[in-house]
Order: sequence, then structure tokens, then C-alpha cells
Amino acid sequence: MRLSQAHINTLREVPGEAEIPSHIWLLRSGMIRKMVSGVYGFMPFGRRTLRKIEAIIREEMDAAGAQEILTSAIQPAELWQESGRWSAYGPELWRVKDRHSRDFCLGPTAEEVFTDIVRNEVNSYRRLPLNLYQIQTKYRDEARPRYGLMRSREFIMKDAYSFDRDVEGLDESYRVMREVYTRVFNRCGLTFRPVEADSGAMGGKDTQEFVALCEYGENDIVYCESCEMAATAERAAGVDVARTDDEMLPISEVSTPGAKTIDEVAAYLKLPKEKTIKALLFAIYDEAGEVAEYAAAFIRGDRELNKTKLINALGIAEHMLEFADEAKMGTVTGSVAGYTGPVGLHDCRVVVDSELPGLQNLCAGACKEGYHLLNVNYGRDYEGEIVTDLKLAGAGDPCPVCGKPLLTARGIEVGQIFKLGTKYSESMGAYYKDENQEEQLIVMGCYGIGVTRTMAAIVEQNHDDKGIIWPMSVAPYHVIITLVKPDDKVQRDLGERLYASLIAEGIEALLDDRDERPGVKFNDADILGIPIRITVGKKAADDIVEYKRREKSEVLELSEREAMSHALADVRAAMRG
Ligand code: ATP
Ligand code: MG
Repeated sequence: MRLSQAHINTLREVPGEAEIPSHIWLLRSGMIRKMVSGVYGFMPFGRRTLRKIEAIIREEMDAAGAQEILTSAIQPAELWQESGRWSAYGPELWRVKDRHSRDFCLGPTAEEVFTDIVRNEVNSYRRLPLNLYQIQTKYRDEARPRYGLMRSREFIMKDAYSFDRDVEGLDESYRVMREVYTRVFNRCGLTFRPVEADSGAMGGKDTQEFVALCEYGENDIVYCESCEMAATAERAAGVDVARTDDEMLPISEVSTPGAKTIDEVAAYLKLPKEKTIKALLFAIYDEAGEVAEYAAAFIRGDRELNKTKLINALGIAEHMLEFADEAKMGTVTGSVAGYTGPVGLHDCRVVVDSELPGLQNLCAGACKEGYHLLNVNYGRDYEGEIVTDLKLAGAGDPCPVCGKPLLTARGIEVGQIFKLGTKYSESMGAYYKDENQEEQLIVMGCYGIGVTRTMAAIVEQNHDDKGIIWPMSVAPYHVIITLVKPDDKVQRDLGERLYASLIAEGIEALLDDRDERPGVKFNDADILGIPIRITVGKKAADDIVEYKRREKSEVLELSEREAMSHALADVRAAMRG
């Protein structure tokens, strides 16, 4: 491609809304364009990179025996009603009506659609296992679209669904997909970690997330360097401190005027925070968006609540739980803002962290303005409807597997693999006939990759203060030849010869033949992140060009032939990985 004819539009200014490097550089390089909040289009260079990521995914999926299909983004409500997700999915589901007022959604994922295809078209054990996938635009009306392609409302996802005869078959399909994902993200040049993830209230089966490590990631992960443990912070099991079994002292009320937070109460009463109980108060909403009931979670005062664990314990969907309006909650449950404890609370679901029953004589709110209770004991003074691990694991906490201190990292989930089991085949009636002509439920797995999010994650990990540094495998072009003076015949001829030879060798080359100042051209080459730049300038007359790798500062002076062989070698070595 000649840049004089290319549709590129790099920006000098940082667009106001862009906060993180990938968003800034994808906009500044002109690879993506915003349509409205969370909705982006891809310009030629962006489209090329996207296609390369898609091609890597296709190659690896196909090599593993998966087959690509393409379903419609418009999905009928009936399928979602069958699976129960029409209501359970919540406001992220982008609902639309046709002219006859029939309900549809723009697919955020496609378990129902794929289950429907397979229940209709596959009925014998001979046709299983099967893995079908698509690379398709998905829609989620995210509450907070942000960070450009990272969390958008329209995005491209590769979603695959495996269909097996039994659990052993699913285990194998899952193992194969895990390997595929590892190869895909390696080929994309990402630094990532597969981590155990939360399967939600609904699933309860194995699931792993592939988290690309980056500073601005939205996902916290915890891992252990002494053993293999690696999990999302949501999923990581908390470890209870050892039971103390101290003698229970008589409960007593103490005045704690103005001391509402754990810090204030601990300071006022001169107690360590470990001797206090923290209350977190929630409202559970019904499908009509009304408060159906209240819930209180109690954990040791120095702990953080893991909301995902609470949601799972309550067996509800994520969007149904919100922090309570404490004044309203008080009239129903007797809670008092800043002074709520487990004693005296009523008409409320009470979930207690598993650590609390083993600890004695703790301090908790008295459910009375300005008062706390001392020597509160589980069993004697209060009980929980549910007692379970509610703790958020953090750096330094003991590893739930080996006990060594945990480490934490940030990242962004680029892919997830999930053992669905028979959740969808049961609700939607997907059966096959086994060898004995008996009907059996199909056992399913699902496997997603955020294709556009992967593109952003690659930039997040590969950029400097001048722009993107694309890994060769996904670069929009491999080489850019910068003509310092396009109207100088010697420079032009050499540049054109190189350009033609590179293309003849299958290298994706750009020729910057624009009538622009050299500085502008260099800046653009850097912003666009082209891995190799060959500059043809004054020394062309002596058969010397400059050869520079985007990620290095070193500039080599090479002859035309040497530049050609360097480029070939560099591109091929990188593509071999
Ligand atoms: P998240 O927790 O980040 O919202 P998710 O668990 O809802 O993700 P999945 O339903 O597993 O995501 O979707 C599969 C993949 O699609 C994710 O691993 C992620 O890479 C991508 N993805 C999900 N939501 C978005 C989004 N709003 N924008 C871009 N990519 C997304
Ligand atoms: Mg999500």
C-alpha cells in the first residue's frame, strides 16, 4: 500500500475521553473510530489487525477440529425464555422489538442458539463430539462502557460450543480448548495467565479465564509462586484464621457516639479491627425492579467482602443485588446506618462469613443509634441463614492450597472457557440417542475470546510514548519504507524497488511516498506501530538505507540487498514465533 493513497488519519492530540494507552493509541493511530459510547468502527489499518487476530483464532480452532459457522446477531426471545435467561440476564441484554411487537435480543452470547441448532440437527451418538464456533459481533448494553475496545457495547467475540456424549468427553473438549487458547494468545504476543474463575450461582462447573496482564486491567487475580494456584480474586477461596474457642463473656452494650465505620469504632474502643464485625447491607431486587428482600453480610472487621461469593451464596443473579438504602432498610429490618450488627436484625437474610463462628467476644453494631455491643458470639447471640466464605483474598493472605503468602496482579479477561455440563441441554431439551437407542442429555462446554478486547490488550502491553508497537503476527503491515524525499529520483527508485521486492516475497509492505515532512512520516510510522521501518534518504545515492525495528532504538545502515534480507529474516523469524 502506498500511503499517498491510504486512508489513514493519525491524530496529534489525545482524544479527551481516552484514559488508558490502548484507547489513546487506537484512536490516535486512526485504527478505530467512535460512533457512540461503547460503539466503535474499524478503519483500514485497524481492520487489518483485527483480521489477523481472527485468522490466528480460526487457524487454531480449525486445527483442533472445531468448525466455523455464522449465526444471526438477532435472536428470538423464545429461545432465551426457554433457558430462563430472558429475565436472568438483566439489563445488559439488548432487547429489541420488531414491527409486530415480537421480542428479540441482539445476542450477547449464543448458548441458546447453538443448543437449538444441535438439538434440531444432531440426534445420534455417532455425530458427537462436535465443536461449533463463530466469530461474530456481540451486543451488551454495559452499565459502564469504557476504555474503548476493552469494555464496549458492540464487540467481536469468538464463541465456541462443544457438544459431548458424557462428562469425560467434555473434559477432553475443554482440555483441547485450553491448549488452543494458550496458543492463540501466545501467537498474539500477549503476556497472560490462565486462572480459575467463578462460575456464578448458575453453573458451578469448572471455568478458567485467560487474563492478559496489564496495569489498567479491571480484573484482580491472585496467585501463588510456591504452588500452581492462580485464580481471579472473586474466585479465590479465603482462608479462615484458626478457631480461638475462648470463653464467651457476657454481652454488653457500649455507647459509641459518632463511631460508625470499623476504623472509628476500633479507635474509639481501642480494639484491634480483628475483634470487630463488619456489616454490609444489601437490597435484593425482583424482576420488576422492586426491592424483594434485604440481605446483610457479616465479616470480620479487617476483611473485605467478596460480592461474588455473596451473590453465589444467595443464589441470585448479579444485577439483582445492590447496596441498600439504609434508611428504608431500617424500617423493615431494624438496621441502623453505621450501627448495624447481627443482633437485633430481623426480616432480613443473614449471611455470615465462615470465620466468625470460630471467633469469640467480638464487637458489633447494636442496631441502636450510637451504640455497639461487646462480646458478641455466634450461636449464642446470633446465627446466619448461610455461613460461608465471603472473604476477598488479597496480597499476603495465605494461599488456600499451600498456605504461602499470595501475590496479586491486574489484568483484563481476554478469554474464558467454561464447562456448562447439561445446564442448557436440560432446560432446552437437547438429547442424543446412545448405542442402545436411549435418550441422553448432551454435555456442553462454551469458550469465548474477546477478539476486539484482545486487540486492545495487545496495545496495552505493546506501546511506548510514541505509539503502538505491534507484534509482527498482528501488525497491519510488516514493513514501512519511508521516502525522505519522494521527488528525488534516486531515493524514489530505490524505495520502489525495495517495495516491489518485499511484496514479491509475500511481505506486507507500505511505501510512505507522501509529500510530507520526514518528521511527520516518522511520527506516523511510530504511532501506527509498523514493526520494521526502512528509511530511504540522502545516502540512497551510496546504496545505503536505514533499518530500524520499532521496538529498538538502534538504527542500522544497510545496503538495499542487506535491508531486503534483514526484513525477510526478521518477518519470518517473528512469524515462526
Ligand atoms: P467481563 O467480566 O469482562 O464483563 P464476561 O465474563 O462477561 O466478561 P464472557 O461472557 O465470558 O465475558 O465473554 C467472552 C469474552 O468476551 C470475554 O472473555 C471478553 O474477552 C469478551 N467481552 C465480554 N464483554 C465484553 C465487552 N463489553 N467488550 C469487549 N469484550 C468483551
Ligand atoms: Mg461481562
